[in-house]
This record gives sequence, structure tokens and C-alpha cells, in this order.
Amino acid sequence: MTEDLLGRHRDVLPDWLALYYQDPLEITHGEGRYVWDAHGTKYLDFFGGILTTMTAHALPEVTKAVTEQAGRIIHSSTLYLNRPMVELAERVAQLSGIPDARVFFTTSGTEANDTALLLATTYRRSNTVLAMRNSYHGRSFSSVGITGNRGWSPTSLSPLQTMYVHGGVRNRGPFAAMDDDGFVRACVDDLTDLLGHTRPPAALIAEPIQGVGGFTSPPDGLYAAFREVLSERGILWIADEVQTGWGRTGDHFWGWQAHDRNGPPDILTFAKGIGNGMSIGGVVARADIMNCLDSNSISTFGGTQVTMAAGLANLTYLLEHDLQGNARRVGGLLIERLRAVAARVPHVREVRGRGLMIGVELTTPGTDRADPDAASAVLEAARAGGLLIGKGGGHNTSALRIAPPLSLTVAEAEEGAAILDHALRSLDQ
Ligand code: PMP
Repeated sequence: MTEDLLGRHRDVLPDWLALYYQDPLEITHGEGRYVWDAHGTKYLDFFGGILTTMTAHALPEVTKAVTEQAGRIIHSSTLYLNRPMVELAERVAQLSGIPDARVFFTTSGTEANDTALLLATTYRRSNTVLAMRNSYHGRSFSSVGITGNRGWSPTSLSPLQTMYVHGGVRNRGPFAAMDDDGFVRACVDDLTDLLGHTRPPAALIAEPIQGVGGFTSPPDGLYAAFREVLSERGILWIADEVQTGWGRTGDHFWGWQAHDRNGPPDILTFAKGIGNGMSIGGVVARADIMNCLDSNSISTFGGTQVTMAAGLANLTYLLEHDLQGNARRVGGLLIERLRAVAARVPHVREVRGRGLMIGVELTTPGTDRADPDAASAVLEAARAGGLLIGKGGGHNTSALRIAPPLSLTVAEAEEGAAILDHALRSLDQ
């Protein structure tokens, strides 16, 4: 990145638009799992899978679909019939597993969650919402009010009454000593207790694996156990699949399926990866919930033909190439490699994850203290070695986040693991 562009960025964009790296990166092009910066330096991209490029950079199938559609018509889409929107909605409805599903497209995950909250609060005539501690759902006026992650939730002036539930973080505080069954029981008891002295909530919204929170996973079955308590009381369950959807977790197409004893959620939200970089978000809900609104639309701009064409091409590609299976196989290997590396690095407390959604938690050696400085140092060292990764976490940004495009090959996984090995070991030098 040229100094000039950084100066211009700082002069005109908000201060809170934080950039990664001491010397911020300007990415100018990409191909497959690699990107290049403005100086021509090549990087293996282990974070683009979350930052929207789910499948691959410059995927020819998506580029072709977008270019062809852009050359025909791009139109604000809610007043006229929109063929690609109907086609993508049919496929998403079927894949969601939600019976009698209706789909509404937005332009982002934040807007998708806003829509889900609007639906749930209207359906239930309640503006009380349950959300998870350490969660991230966006930063609009309503979604920021259900974001439990302190670093991302600067305001409490939300129109919602939010109550935060335990369950997202498994390895801290009194929970760390519990086994999975004990943890689930404690969280269910906490939820039941909370419900005993609050107005009837509209919904519980939760990420099956917390993304921004550092890829922390509750034990499988937690949300099924919650569901029993919620459905007795008519409370809806909204799964935020913005990071966990479309096969990223390997074993399942949706994150909720790890908890699936009681079937799909009442409402599911998605975004990011489905467009492989184009702005698509959306909500799937049972028809009675979706149709409880009597307005014409929520935003007029979701689901333009060009984003829908990208979504269709991308979805077709990932299903035909079994990228969920690839995430399971290559992700499994990557987790194995990283665990082997971690065993030699005292800063690593835990390597956790599922498929191609892998978190590496860093603590100060010999203590239980989160080590955000170590996470920043590894991010820089990995970049110097030619690898882009992300970071996240709850109270501190002390977890490395690894979410490569789903088409990652075994050779690329080995290459990235070797760079990370070097970057992590540089902490002790
Ligand atoms: N939900 C989750 C789980 C997310 O990770 C994010 C984005 N990081 C959002 C919602 C918001 O999505 P967007 O940035 O597309 O508005």
C-alpha cells in the first residue's frame, strides 16, 4: 500500500474503520486461494473465506455469471419479477431444511439479522431478545444491541431489551472445569432461571460457532437443549449462519446441524460467502413467521439480479465440487498439523475448530491470561511469511482465526501450516 493511500484513507474514512497490520495492506487482485498486494507480493489467503470470498478468488464461473448478468440488466428488484432471485430463493429454501420456508434477500449479514429481529419481535409482540455472551451479529442500531462481544458493542442504546445467555464460551471462568454434559446443564439451568424473571422474549439468536468471538464452539447439542426450554414457551430460535453456513464446518452444511435433534431453527440468517464476494445476505423463515409483516419490503435493494446470479453460480459450484467434503478433509488435516505445531509452542492454549473454521487461542505461557499482543505479533509474522490470517476473541483479541476459501488444497494447507509454524515459533525467539 502506498503511504499516500493510507493518508487519504485516514483523512476521509472513519477512525473506527480499523485496518489490519502496522503497514496496512492494499489487495489488488486474487486467484484461487492467493491474493496479491499493490507491490506485487503474493499471499496465501487463510482469512478470505470469512471475509466473503468463500469459494475461491476470481472463480471463473462466478465472474462469467456476474459479467453476463451485468451486461444484460441490474435492477432494483422488489417491484418486478426477478428470475435469478426466485431461483436462488428456491435453492436456499430447500437447503435450509425449514419447512414451508420463505426467503428474503438483503445486502449484508447485519441487515439479515435486522430483518430476523423485526420478524421475531413482530411475530411475538415482544422486543425482549435473548443473545449469547461474546456474540457478534452486526453493528446496526438493532444488531449492535444483541452483540455481546464487548469490543464490538459500543452502545447500549438499542431499541431491544437484550438478555445475554451463557453457552458461547466453553473454556473460561467456572466453565473451564466442566465436562460437556455439565456445561450444557449449567447453561440450560442459567437460561431457565433467566426466563423465570423476565418478560416473554421474542427469540434467542445465536451463532452455532462464534465467529468474531474467536471461533469458540459450544458442545454439540447445546442449542437442542436450549430449544426444549424455548419451544415450551413459544420463543423462536434464530441461527446466525453468516460464518458457519454453506459447508464451512465440514461435517454439516449448516452450523445448526451439529445440534439438530430438534430440527432446523425457526429463522436462519446468512450472508458473506454465498455471493463469493458479491453483497448478499438473507433470511429464511417459516411462512407464518416471514408473512407476519404486512409491509411491501424491508429494503428495496437486496437481491439485485447480478448478486443473485453470483449466488447461483457460486452455490452450484460448491455443491458440484463437494466443497463441504473438502472443508472436512482439508480442514481436518490442517487442524491436525496445527495441533502438532501447537504442542511445541507454549503460547498456544488451544487449537479448536471444525472444517475450515479454525481458531488458535494464545495465552501468556504458564498462565491463563489471554495474550492479544502475541496474536498481533503472529498476524504480522504470518504476513511477513506470505500468509494472511485473522484474529478475534471475546474480551481480548487473542485468538487467531483461520478461514480459507473452501476450495483450499492439501498442498496449500501444508504451505499455510508451515508458515504458521514459523510465525508461532517466532513468539519464543
Ligand atoms: N453475523 C455474524 C456471525 C458475523 O460474523 C457478521 C460479520 N462478521 C455479521 C453477522 C454481520 O455481517 P455483515 O458484516 O455482512 O453485515
